[in-house]
Amino acid sequence: MAETPPPEPPDPSQAAPPEPSGDMVYGESPLSRCPICGYSLVGLPVRGTCPECGSTYGPEKLLKPWPSAGTICLQLGWPLLIALFGVTLMADQSGGAIMGMLIVYAMLVVIPVNSYFRVRRMLRDSLPHNIRTRGPIAIMRAIGTVLCVVMFLIFFGLPVACLGFCLIANA
Ligand SMILES: [Zn+2]
Repeated sequence: MAETPPPEPPDPSQAAPPEPSGDMVYGESPLSRCPICGYSLVGLPVRGTCPECGSTYGPEKLLKPWPSAGTICLQLGWPLLIALFGVTLMADQSGGAIMGMLIVYAMLVVIPVNSYFRVRRMLRDSLPHNIRTRGPIAIMRAIGTVLCVVMFLIFFGLPVACLGFCLIANA
């Protein structure tokens, strides 16, 4: 007696927002764009293949809106606030100066690392792949990356190298 196999349990890795009905289409929105090439998906089914570049798209792959200016300032600026706090400690005559210097120094290392990863993430979430890897944005990204790496090397690599050199010289 042939029994029909039970329906496959849903694959948790495929878990997506509630499956939209087949005839749902994308509405007019700046986010209704192919995450790879930026082609407008307005009027197309919620899940499918991009007519422009052929990559598959779905609601879970869509780009996110840009964070607000306040959010960006907070995400990039928090090490600056801590550094400012360190500067005020440095002005303190009663022994807080060393602690203040350490805090400022730590933030000088944190700023490039934090900025690099925050900006990278923002671009990945909110810009189509083809746009963030070409043209002026790609150039600005390259410049930003170089600045972050240089700053990191100056404030972290250089002192560590000096320290290593001193240790070897004194050995
Ligand atoms: Zn596309």
